[in-house]
Amino acid sequence: MTDKMPEKVKCLIIGSGPAGYTAAIYASRANLSPVLYEGMEPGGQLTTTNDVENFPGYPQGITGPEMMQDFKAQAERFGADCRWGMVTKVDFSSSPKKVTIDDEKEILADSVIVATGASAKYLGLESETKYKGSGVSACATCDGFFYRGKEVAVVGGGDTAAEEATYLAGLCKKVYLIIRKDYMRASKVMQKRVENTENLEVLFEHNTKEIYGDGVVEGIRLIKRKGEADEKIVDVKVDGVFIAIGHKPNTDIFKGQLELDENGYIITKGNTSHTNIPGVFAAGDVHDTHYRQAITAAGAGCKAALDAERYLAEL
Ligand code: NDP
Repeated sequence: MTDKMPEKVKCLIIGSGPAGYTAAIYASRANLSPVLYEGMEPGGQLTTTNDVENFPGYPQGITGPEMMQDFKAQAERFGADCRWGMVTKVDFSSSPKKVTIDDEKEILADSVIVATGASAKYLGLESETKYKGSGVSACATCDGFFYRGKEVAVVGGGDTAAEEATYLAGLCKKVYLIIRKDYMRASKVMQKRVENTENLEVLFEHNTKEIYGDGVVEGIRLIKRKGEADEKIVDVKVDGVFIAIGHKPNTDIFKGQLELDENGYIITKGNTSHTNIPGVFAAGDVHDTHYRQAITAAGAGCKAALDAERYLAEL
């Protein structure tokens, strides 16, 4: 059923990671009475992260989920209205902007801050889909527990893969890190950590062909030196496979309205959060192809709220 009278808000925030909650803290303190929709993964990617040790203000580190609860509590303390719900449609062609929640509720917003983040990418294998949630995961913190004392593979060669692999090495008997190139893209400090982890074996120049098993994951089939004269198939017996090959920005609902780059990230103007639509601002991983850190996302959320405040003052 569609609500007859759309709700009117000054500032609508879409997304609940560090960018969204920080925007909510600033917007509520500026009396913009922000309404924030949390989306499918309240708290965002950090809720699937291990200890966060590089966010200033937490000298002992903190878990991702706890940190996001702190962010939310701080936003609510100043009156931000944080709600369950998914934005399913937007119409930015006129002002106020029309935003549909869960395909039924309509909101009219004078300003919108998009902080929908990015989601984990998968390899796109049929066997991966088949075992997703029961042997295949994109989150070591969420699912590593189920593989205590077992053998697992992590696919990817970036910082995420290195972090997942070293985390899993603390729980599992053995971890294979599957990297398609002959080098690792991860930062030097993470590479060192991988090298120094005894039960972690790196398989360079290995591509994933499939994940095999009879009802449960029994192993990962790899192609070693794909395309070379000595290419060969290698089967590695594992109980679980963790995919850590990067992220895709959550911008599908904005296609055709907001200007996006070739990878789907929102393009913002200069050193601001302004998008191509006046009154619509972007913050966090949804527009950041480079830094993608909790602290930079939080900073971007602050900028977006300040930009929204100035925009609204001039309306
Ligand atoms: P990246 O894009 O940095 O790395 C993705 C990795 O996955 C690459 O090694 C890539 O291989 C590999 N890959 C991509 N597609 C496939 C495929 N189809 N099959 C096999 N391998 C594939 O993503 P991350 O998520 O690791 O990192 C994103 C950003 O976040 C980075 O800037 C990183 O530094 C940052 N980050 C920082 C952390 C921290 O500071 N604690 C923790 C995690 C991330 P190839 O190299 O061949 O392209």
